[in-house]
Amino acid sequence: MRLKDKVALITGGASGLGQMDAELLAAEGARVVITDIDDKAGQILASTLNGLFLHHDVTSESDWQRVMNAVTEHYGGLDILVNNAGIVQVADIESTSLELYQRMNAVHNDGTFLGCRYAIEAMRERGGSIINMSSLTAIRGYPLVPSYAAAKGAVLALTHTVAVHCRQKGYPIRCNAVLPGPIATPLALTVIEDASGMGQPEDVAQMVLFLASDESKHVSGAQFVIDNAGSMVGGEA
Ligand code: NAD
Repeated sequence: MRLKDKVALITGGASGLGQMDAELLAAEGARVVITDIDDKAGQILASTLNGLFLHHDVTSESDWQRVMNAVTEHYGGLDILVNNAGIVQVADIESTSLELYQRMNAVHNDGTFLGCRYAIEAMRERGGSIINMSSLTAIRGYPLVPSYAAAKGAVLALTHTVAVHCRQKGYPIRCNAVLPGPIATPLALTVIEDASGMGQPEDVAQMVLFLASDESKHVSGAQFVIDNAGSMVGGEA
């Protein structure tokens, strides 16, 4: 029970990595709040975990305000935020429209920015851990997903600034980034058909659990690649 009585909000928690995060954090004693635009899957998961589901488009500031108010009302505060919601679309730089570029930025970068803003407000006094789902694409060239990679790079930079800001202000809030390589989820399988070399959602969730728990109390402003050295040996996974 490494997260006993902690309150954890996981955006995009209805599928893939977010779903696994919610399951593992709940198994370790956290009270989980799953938010997503997929209401049906989110509600089913929340009911199996005895948690709360809230409809939430991470690009909407008014949704963030409603969600944070509901979390405070239900659980009295927030200890852990996993900024996980995401989308992907394949298009190389020559075929990427400005609209696609801006959409990727809205979900990943704007969504994470709003999450960090509202989490700091909620955690300033009581402390907490913010975990931002970046990607290996943020630090290594992936020519098929330039808009996704650029947005994930912004998430990584934002993570560093949030961590330093909180430390300088004396807020007991940590902020870290997780950079998975290909992990077998519905999102990854739209880009890469062969899942044989991919990691599993639990490989990422175990890192999220560590960063959410007090065991990582001296870890902030850090980035964790989860790819079993796949990028170092030159493979996709
Ligand atoms: P997934 O498609 O299985 O799950 C993503 C979830 O986000 C879905 O439930 C979806 O409904 C939700 N979502 C999408 N847009 C949203 C919005 N505007 N507001 C709220 N929810 C929204 O994908 P996944 O692979 O589990 O991805 C989770 C995160 O991990 C993403 O940020 C993704 O970029 C990142 N990531 C995934 C991989 C991988 O290989 N799977 C690798 C690196 C990073």
